[in-house]
Amino acid sequence: MDNFDLHNHSTASDGLLSPTQLIQLAARTGVDAIALTDHDTTAGLEEAQDAARAAGIAFVPGVEISVSWGSTTLHIVGLNVDRGSEVLARGLDSIRDGRFGRAQRIAAELERLGMPGTLEGALALAGSEAKLSRTHFARHLVRAGHVKDAQAAFDKYLAQGKPAYVAHRWATLENAVSWIRAAGGIAVIAHPGRYDLKPMMRHEMLREFRELGGAAIEVVTGSHRPEEYATWQRVALEHGFLASRGADYHGPGESACEPGTLPALHASLTPVWSQWAH
Ligand code: AMP
Ligand code: MN
Ligand code: MN
Ligand code: MN
Repeated sequence: MDNFDLHNHSTASDGLLSPTQLIQLAARTGVDAIALTDHDTTAGLEEAQDAARAAGIAFVPGVEISVSWGSTTLHIVGLNVDRGSEVLARGLDSIRDGRFGRAQRIAAELERLGMPGTLEGALALAGSEAKLSRTHFARHLVRAGHVKDAQAAFDKYLAQGKPAYVAHRWATLENAVSWIRAAGGIAVIAHPGRYDLKPMMRHEMLREFRELGGAAIEVVTGSHRPEEYATWQRVALEHGFLASRGADYHGPGESACEPGTLPALHASLTPVWSQWAH
């Protein structure tokens, strides 16, 4: 089997490794083809592409788009996108523009809870206002000694339903899929097991995604528990979705598995990469 890993982050969004460092790690862990899928940006793709060429592994340009579907936040991965696409670039710009205002509101909630100065702290870690994510707040809260690790920061403060969670409007599902398709890419539902949707709504979400031109779902991902793989394998087969595999790697010490180290997709599935020349 070719070792495809189609979901990874770098310092262009909330990863800890630069695009080059990520690719070099993937080459060491035996990845044959890697996608960089930063949140709402394609800024790391050029560097990653060059690093992959130098490391002798195949590169798949990608992105992970934040979407609001009703009150649920979904992540839609675009694979094999043209990083020169104007439509995609303008769409992603429009989402990133909202990140700083949201970060200010998160910081205000944390201040109210007795943790001042978190906007500055998170910003220092993110490097720019448009990149600011909850991950940067989580890392800052660890450094400042408020929580023992980043997971605890989400569990205590930052996850949906917790006191510093701030609702936010991202892209619509329709927009995200259309930007990906306009950029020549394939739209994939990231970590479908992570969304808090009742079965009827889950079915409706999958139906709508498919109707909009979505083609694949992640089955084997670092953001699913191993016991969830079978569930999403069944869903992929039932709905006729292509299947994807990716670590959702964010960096050393923060992710359960390194790129390319997850189990292979079950032989009954059609991998999303089966249609690509490689
Ligand atoms: P944001 O786009 O700012 O909402 O940040 C989303 C990122 O935070 C995700 O891509 C994950 O990296 C991380 N994240 C979200 N929810 C959790 C959670 N419950 N536990 C750990 N990390 C999380
Ligand atoms: Mn992330
Ligand atoms: Mn995600
Ligand atoms: Mn991700």
